[in-house]
Amino acid sequence: MSNLEREPEEIRCGAEPGPGDELLPGRAVPLGGPRAMAVSRTLPGAHRRLIGAWCFLDAYGPELTAMRVPPHPHTGLQTVTWLLAGEVLHRDSLGSRQQVRPGQLNLMTAGRGISHSEESAEEVLHGVQLWVALPAEHRHDAPAFEHHAALPVLEGPGYTATVIMGSLGGVLSPATARTPLTGAEIAVDGAGEVPLDPGFEHGLLLLDGQVGGLERGPLAYLPPGRSGVRLSGRGRVLLIGGAPFGEEIVMWWNFVGRSHEEIAAFRKEWAQGEGFGTVEGFDGDPLPAPALPAVRLKPRGRVRGRPPQ
Ligand code: MN
Repeated sequence: MSNLEREPEEIRCGAEPGPGDELLPGRAVPLGGPRAMAVSRTLPGAHRRLIGAWCFLDAYGPELTAMRVPPHPHTGLQTVTWLLAGEVLHRDSLGSRQQVRPGQLNLMTAGRGISHSEESAEEVLHGVQLWVALPAEHRHDAPAFEHHAALPVLEGPGYTATVIMGSLGGVLSPATARTPLTGAEIAVDGAGEVPLDPGFEHGLLLLDGQVGGLERGPLAYLPPGRSGVRLSGRGRVLLIGGAPFGEEIVMWWNFVGRSHEEIAAFRKEWAQGEGFGTVEGFDGDPLPAPALPAVRLKPRGRVRGRPPQ
C-alpha cells in the first residue's frame, strides 16, 4: 500500500500560536437589561461559525457587576458556564438551582427545550459562557442539567490543564458530550507543549496574564493537523476544540435548529408560554423573544464567506 494522497497533510507539532494564525475578533455585546455588562463575543464569527461543535463564546470581566439574565429558552445546544472569579446562580425549568464557582462546571443540555435564569450578587465577575451544538441524533433529547464540582487535570511541564469538556491528552471530563470535543482551562507557568488531537480544530483565548503569541481579546484559530501547541509565560488560557462539525445549523437568539420554520416555531412556543417549562424562584419576568428578522434564516456550516485577510 502506498499513500495515494497527492498532498499529504503535514502534522504540525508544538508550534506557538502566533501572527500566522487566523484571529476571530471579539465583538462587544451588552448582556442583561438596564445595567448591562459588556461581553466579548468571538464565536460565532463573521467568517468562522463553529470550532468543533462549539458554536458560541462570550467572555466577560473581570468587572464589578451584578449579572441578571431573566428566564429564557434554549434548544439544540448545551450551555457551558465557567468562571474565573465570582459566583453565578443557575435556575432552570427542571427545578435545578445551582450556584457555580471558579473551577466548577455548570452544564445544561437543552435538547428539545429548556428555560433558565442566571444571576449574581454585585461582585467581581470573570468568566466565559459557551454553547455546544448538539448533533442531529441528540438535539431532540430530553433536557438535563449537570454540576461538576471537581474536574480532572492534565499536568505537563509548564502547564496545568483542567479538562472541562471532552478530553485532552487522554484525560476525560465526566461531563456529557455528544461529539468528539475538548474544552480546558490551561494555567501556564513556564513553558511546555500541550498535546492536541490532530483530527480536531482548536481555538485559544487568553483569559488573564501573559502567554506567548496570544493577545487579550481575539480567539486564535488552529486548523486541524496539529499534535500540540507550545504555551509559555504566566497566565490562563481557554482551549476549545473538536472534530469539525459536519452539519449545517440555524442559530438565532437562544435557539439552535436546522431550518427557518423550526426556529419560528420555537419562538412562537416561547411567546405563548409553551414548551419550555417554568423557572421557579426568579424574581422578575421572563425575557421576551425578539422579532424574527425580515429575511429567512439560512442554515450555515462551519464557515461563511471568505476568510479574513
Ligand atoms: Mn442561556
